[in-house]
Amino acid sequence: MTPSSQSLSERLAAIRARMDATARTSGRDPASVTLTAVSKTQPPEAIDAALAAGLRVFGENRVQEAQGRWTDRRPALSDLELRLIGPLQSNKAEDAVALFDVIETLDREKLVGALGAAQKKLGLRPRVLIQVNTGEEPQKAGVSPRDVDALIASARAADLDVEGVMAIPPAEEEPTLHFALLAKIAARNGLRVLSMGMSSDYEAAIRLGATHVRLGTALFGERNTTPEPSSA
Ligand SMILES: *Cc1c(COP(=O)(O)O)cnc(C)c1O
Repeated sequence: MTPSSQSLSERLAAIRARMDATARTSGRDPASVTLTAVSKTQPPEAIDAALAAGLRVFGENRVQEAQGRWTDRRPALSDLELRLIGPLQSNKAEDAVALFDVIETLDREKLVGALGAAQKKLGLRPRVLIQVNTGEEPQKAGVSPRDVDALIASARAADLDVEGVMAIPPAEEEPTLHFALLAKIAARNGLRVLSMGMSSDYEAAIRLGATHVRLGTALFGERNTTPEPSSA
């Protein structure tokens, strides 16, 4: 899959080549697809290698882990973009608004209120994506496709800067139907950003319109296997 003998910059070059080729063959501008480096659980050396290779857009799953990792690095990196891609608890909304440029996991009314209050208090306005549970999996985060339009309207009414949608398709299913559904939801709500596609399916996601693919394993190699807590 991803030979560990390859360096991160070699893996990155190969991924970029595949991303660009896929975009072109789908009639899309390669510059319209951003690689989000998913750095969760990676050691500091891996982050430094990613930065040295020129990556500046990072996805983190947990607010606290991201704070520990980025608070000191950030001042030297004016073009860094941090994206929260893991579940967010309302009581961490303020920390998330303070740290992240983009919050990809807004999936319920309660969080609309918490993020609205946090951005008002801090005078910051992160961009927001709505996470959609396209497979309607009971254990998975994300708003149901039935309720997503109402949540988008409510987030907009609360002055949140909603710019797109995000999804993680069910692991055992063919992802393209889920990507197509997410693209349809974005289009009918006038949203531009589509965060979909991970290491195993990013080419399919790009074919269906992804503007952001979130890559962990393909870029960094296998993560260590420490189980992650179920929420940020
Ligand atoms: C871990 C994670 C990824 C990256 O997964 P890979 O298969 O390692 O590329 C992408 N998105 C989210 C939300 C994740 O939690």
